[in-house]
Amino acid sequence: MGNDPRRDLARQVEELRRQAEEVGAMVAGHRLLECPSCGLAEDALADLTVRVVLPERPDEDTGLRFSALDDDEATWSCPQCGTVFAPTDEPIS
Ligand SMILES: [Zn+2]
Repeated sequence: MGNDPRRDLARQVEELRRQAEEVGAMVAGHRLLECPSCGLAEDALADLTVRVVLPERPDEDTGLRFSALDDDEATWSCPQCGTVFAPTDEPIS
């Protein structure tokens, strides 16, 4: 098979998405958080600020901020619904 330009494009998009995620994590100082319960999520912007948005209104900063429950930022609580979760794991009930 020859080169499929669409496959190349898909690979580039995937690479850009990965880089954007890394930049976002850098801006936030940790992995970008997303509440597994209500979907409230951190979003890193191009101007190096972080906002917290709801999935139904991704362009509107809620003004809410996630807060870490421990010094090593392993668990977080959602400011909207109060769910406690670890960013890389299933929610802690
Ligand atoms: Zn929540």
